[in-house]
Amino acid sequence: MKIICIGRNYAAHAKELSNEVPKNPVFFLKPDSALLQKGKPFYIPDFSDEIHYEVELVIKIKRLGKNIGKKFAHRYYDELGIGIDFTARDIQRECKEKGLPWEIAKAFDHSAVIGDFVSKSKFENLEDIEFSLLKNGKVVQLGNSANMLFKVDEIISYVSKFMTLKIGDMIFTGTPAGVGAVAIGDHLEAFIGEDKMLDCEIK
Ligand code: ZN
Repeated sequence: MKIICIGRNYAAHAKELSNEVPKNPVFFLKPDSALLQKGKPFYIPDFSDEIHYEVELVIKIKRLGKNIGKKFAHRYYDELGIGIDFTARDIQRECKEKGLPWEIAKAFDHSAVIGDFVSKSKFENLEDIEFSLLKNGKVVQLGNSANMLFKVDEIISYVSKFMTLKIGDMIFTGTPAGVGAVAIGDHLEAFIGEDKMLDCEIK
């Protein structure tokens, strides 16, 4: 399976990193070795001094598809969850400055933390889902899918023009504003609405 991550999908986050708001979805990949399953601690890797959390809504692909039309995209996923796209911000900055790809900043082992998934039928409106990240008990990121620049169906349609989506693939749909660094001993908890979906200790 592969993990597809959408960058700059919330205007306020694009702005906080001084990035332009894109005309099309911007995406990059993480390999399956990036997955960190629910409840496991995250160990800060020794190659970065600035690991940032990015909380994101995550969808799980349930059907094989290529060139999926926007109006059919909803048939390709049933489950929705939450995840953290850990990013070595110092390395990413360096890569960007040199015009190099970002893989080492984004695709390293355990950089894609996932929590529980729930059926999308649980939500009245997929374009109005509130989610949040708490660090040591304090809210550090608060997002709502209403503020996505590109909605899930548009993302599926766009990405599937370039690459086949397979059963089990995951799409991290972008982070709202408020990203920041983690330190050893931090405790991260992610919520969809009032429901805690993810718990991660930083070691
Ligand atoms: Zn991200």
